[in-house]
Amino acid sequence: MATRATPVLTGIAANWKKLYPSAVISGIVGDTRHAKRGGYHISIEDQVNRSDYSVTRPDDKAPPGTWPRDCASAIDMNLSLADMRLCHARLCAVWRNRANDPRARYLNAHNGWDGTGNPGRYDWYAGTVSTATDDHEWHVHLELRRRYVNDPKAAAAVLSILRGDSLADFQGDDMALDTKTPIYDKGPSERQALADLHYAQFKGNKVSVEQQSLARLEAQLAALAGRDLVDEPAIVAGVLASLTPEKIAAAIPPAQVKAVADELARRMQG
Ligand SMILES: [Zn+2]
Repeated sequence: MATRATPVLTGIAANWKKLYPSAVISGIVGDTRHAKRGGYHISIEDQVNRSDYSVTRPDDKAPPGTWPRDCASAIDMNLSLADMRLCHARLCAVWRNRANDPRARYLNAHNGWDGTGNPGRYDWYAGTVSTATDDHEWHVHLELRRRYVNDPKAAAAVLSILRGDSLADFQGDDMALDTKTPIYDKGPSERQALADLHYAQFKGNKVSVEQQSLARLEAQLAALAGRDLVDEPAIVAGVLASLTPEKIAAAIPPAQVKAVADELARRMQG
């Protein structure tokens, strides 16, 4: 019997914390008090009550051979009132549009506060709102549906909500077609995706081998640039901005081309 936190859950918590200046991770795996009252901070196998509310819905109950039974599936995040209002508002915006927003499918519920009256429990599965306990005036409680505890797509979707992305923003990111952010502001994986996309487009347009090679080079340089904290991405972007086959060709002096050709001719004769 055990309850553990998966890398997907700890990853969501760590990246959520970065989005709000006042955020402090309160926890994922519940303590003994949590264990007694059950819920998503406790694994399926550690529930005292076998029919606890957190193990009965279709995306939670884990028939044999489906998703893990030894994982917590909720995160508590302490927030200042200003950050609580912002975070709760972002969650509620997607909660209201949950029928049309694919990000909603990963959440079971959240508890948060808009700063007036009682904190609320927003059920993303049933679409209902109820009163949550007063401690949710200073922390957001966020429940992932248990089937997604190892799903990186769930992490991307939930973080997109917590970041305040619109649905269009999210769907744009999903297709690696974000053209608003300069390439040097993107993370290594985003740059790689963008370079791959460019490469695919080049292939489709039957452009030259040189241009295809440049796309690969761009991806490799971008990956290298992402490995340290020196401002190489800006340098790489600057170089790439002016790197075309024509310019490369123009940069090689004609005399040198002649010398290489002569050398080749000599070797082929030999
Ligand atoms: Zn909680």
